[in-house]
Amino acid sequence: MGLGPSIVMTMSSETDKSYDLNSKKSIFLAPLGGLGEIGMNMMAVVYRKKAIIIDCGLMFPNADEPGVDIIIPRIDFLKDHGIEVIGIILTHGHEDHIGAIPFVIDELGFPPVYGTPFTLALIEERLREAGHLKHTTFEVVHPPQSFSVGDFKIQSIQVTHSVVDSMGLMIETPIGRIIHSGDFKMDQHPIDGKNIDEKRLKDPSIQNLLLMSDSTNVEREGWSRSEEVVGKTFKQLFAEIETGKIIVGVFASNIHRIQQIYDEAVASKRKVSFLGRSMRTNVEIACRLKHLKIDRSNVVDPSDIDSLDAKKIVMIATGTQAEPRSVLYRLSLNDHPETQIHPGDTVILSSRFIPGNERNISHLINNLYRRGAEVIDSDMADVHCSGHAYQDEQIELLKWTKPKFFLPVHGEYRMLVKHLRLAQSVDSHIRGLIAENGDLIELSPERIKKVSQFPAGKVFLDEAAGDIHEELIRDRVKMASTGLVVASLVLHAKKGALIEGPNFDVRGLPTDDLALLEGEVLTMLEDLSKEARTDEVEVKEELRRVTRRFFRKATGTKPVVVPLIYFV
Ligand SMILES: [Zn+2]
Ligand SMILES: [Zn+2]
Repeated sequence: MGLGPSIVMTMSSETDKSYDLNSKKSIFLAPLGGLGEIGMNMMAVVYRKKAIIIDCGLMFPNADEPGVDIIIPRIDFLKDHGIEVIGIILTHGHEDHIGAIPFVIDELGFPPVYGTPFTLALIEERLREAGHLKHTTFEVVHPPQSFSVGDFKIQSIQVTHSVVDSMGLMIETPIGRIIHSGDFKMDQHPIDGKNIDEKRLKDPSIQNLLLMSDSTNVEREGWSRSEEVVGKTFKQLFAEIETGKIIVGVFASNIHRIQQIYDEAVASKRKVSFLGRSMRTNVEIACRLKHLKIDRSNVVDPSDIDSLDAKKIVMIATGTQAEPRSVLYRLSLNDHPETQIHPGDTVILSSRFIPGNERNISHLINNLYRRGAEVIDSDMADVHCSGHAYQDEQIELLKWTKPKFFLPVHGEYRMLVKHLRLAQSVDSHIRGLIAENGDLIELSPERIKKVSQFPAGKVFLDEAAGDIHEELIRDRVKMASTGLVVASLVLHAKKGALIEGPNFDVRGLPTDDLALLEGEVLTMLEDLSKEARTDEVEVKEELRRVTRRFFRKATGTKPVVVPLIYFV
């Protein structure tokens, strides 16, 4: 009993409704995403009802959010208070910083989008697909360039991160200077020689009013490893591996990593092949923008791999998180259209295991072994390093910028708490607070304070980018408006043979042509390899896809499909 009420009291004394969004003396910070969670970063910085938005990201659903493909932040706060968005500033090109733009930019009234060339190139294609490109203005920023957006004068700051062309922001506002770190690390030996811009961050001419800084790795002591270390590991591995193909799984946005793998592959007299749609797109863009140096004569097409000497091939592929239908996933099930894994091949997972994906990744690795491959991951060799600052780097940034106030961003709740503690251990005078999405924060030269709460949270979108409200996720059975299909199959656990079904329990949709759908499901099963048929995630995904496509064609509606697979 003791703790509960006192916490409630602290909360209510921190919140006071007498705030004025038109005040000339205050900046308001509205975290729309990324505070209290990892992913979908989005922060509104508001002065006199005009806002810049820093980043606009998405996140991916958990297994308990069926039928959801992506999640984006709720932006009602801006509309509810009549706030005009005058610019979107993108710190870098990761999905959790740019992915929501195609879905919200029209609602935001197409404000200009500011970012570095690589970041903007990544978002351009997505906006074209969404039909928004012709309404969107891009403003290209080359750090350390400065630019003005309304009353905000913004200096871009070069930082090091796991995607090229990343930046932090120094924002001069009418009430003082705010620094936003973006995602960053301090790499002593960055692959492109571009260090974090220490000189500008240390600028002693003005006291920084507020620092907002990336909390992702606050629980890791010391200093993050340099990307250079990973290159050395590849050199060594490529010299040691004597049999079969080498397949390296890596995030498609990690251009420096891709460069290092390519360089070491060529140095070991191997040819390189790029696999996966996002990999090929990103490599294309990075080459065009000269972030990646690749000689086309060293590149082979995926469809030619199997006809070449396996010992002379390095494949660079997507799918390190075991995403269904990614290259590594399909290879693990012997279900890739162009090439396959043979005994003696080596798969290197050059990434970390994102929390929540461990089970699927472990399943992926087992299947790769079933194909006869050897698998090397970041627990076994230095084939990955983080793009986010560890404690000592975060301390360094705090010492450089000496902010009066501190607001930890980009992290789950405990990380935010630990980051604030870390800041106060560097300088006990630093005042700060822990805020989550939906906390309205007032910043003035004298204080930083939570003044109110606003509706924030997740918007769930399905494949066709239809908006699904949060409550409906929990209670989808009631979604009579779009209909519900429970599709079930009973399969042999080892052989993947069909034992019973498919059965369909259909609500709110015509059921005349179910025999046709049955046929389509049977064809789908026949087309899957034995391994794919015994893989719950794969069969579920395929069953959902086939069923949904069937009803979309037959009725024009997009029902919620719940696939159920029983293995006996
Ligand atoms: Zn990032
Ligand atoms: Zn991030």
